[in-house]
Amino acid sequence: MARSKEKDPKEIADWLHWLPKAELHLHLEGSITPATLVELSQRNDAVPLTYDQAANVYDYHDFPSFLMSFKAVTERLVKPVDYELITYNMVRDLALQGVRHAEAYLSIGILYRFARLDVDEVMEAAERGRRRAESEFGTSLLWIIDAVRHFGVEECRKTFLKAAELRKHMPSVVGIGIGGDEARGPAHEFREVYAEAKENGLHLTCHAGETTGAESVWSAINIGAERIGHALTAASDEDLMDVLARKQIPLELNVTSNLKTKSCASLLEHPVRRYFEEGLMVTLNSDDPPFFGANLLEEYILVQREFDFTPEQMREFAANSIEASFLKPERKLQLLGEVEQYGF
Ligand SMILES: [Zn+2]
Repeated sequence: MARSKEKDPKEIADWLHWLPKAELHLHLEGSITPATLVELSQRNDAVPLTYDQAANVYDYHDFPSFLMSFKAVTERLVKPVDYELITYNMVRDLALQGVRHAEAYLSIGILYRFARLDVDEVMEAAERGRRRAESEFGTSLLWIIDAVRHFGVEECRKTFLKAAELRKHMPSVVGIGIGGDEARGPAHEFREVYAEAKENGLHLTCHAGETTGAESVWSAINIGAERIGHALTAASDEDLMDVLARKQIPLELNVTSNLKTKSCASLLEHPVRRYFEEGLMVTLNSDDPPFFGANLLEEYILVQREFDFTPEQMREFAANSIEASFLKPERKLQLLGEVEQYGF
């Protein structure tokens, strides 16, 4: 009998709560909760939103209306200092879920596109939020600078060059990535800008295989992505599964996100269990938690319960998340030690 069956679900959920873990696929702008939205509104609006009004902004029924909700939330970031607030609140909320380290996407691609705010001022504010939260809660945070693939290669290059410039005086900027519409911005078009980013000392991530087929994951690997975001459709390609297992390329899975965006039709069709059993390097993540209704802790609880993973297997997910992070070796070892020593 699986060990998980011997324990009461509440007991397992409590254990998962303080299991030391890392979040590797989380968008800063998508981490704004209704409570934080109220705080932003109190700062910036003549008539601030009530909590219920703020919560209603997150209501959507299909993908276009999800994008409208996302836009309505992020439009409330009107001053650079707002990024300090959302960063601080994000790290605080992660610490409350037993998250010891996070790597968050910050979309400079969007900032450039809409030219509403100065990128340097935004990054300085976000850094203030990071430093304050790290010292208060002990949860570390690194930045991955995100470009929007369907805005084209040149906008992406501009974003990655900015990331390289920032990295020189902000060591917390560690990597780059592309998100957006995979079909309108296939990864292979970004080979050159990924090579440049690598030369500039940045780690490479790539959203792939979320809304398009396995070929998108192949392209991400071929342009040098060190971690793949979603990789949902890799399951349809045996050769790809072999490569992912052999090379141990970390996959940033987002189960609830895939269900809510309907990229995956039902929970039991999600390949998380199969990936784990076939020896792929899988991590669990929350993507845009308040929009999808599950934070990282809830993601761990859901996956454990629905796929009947044992606590030892859940510990492996947590260890994978630290192993696959872009942390320096000393901090990785420290956190891996915490995972190992966390008793059951
Ligand atoms: Zn994402």
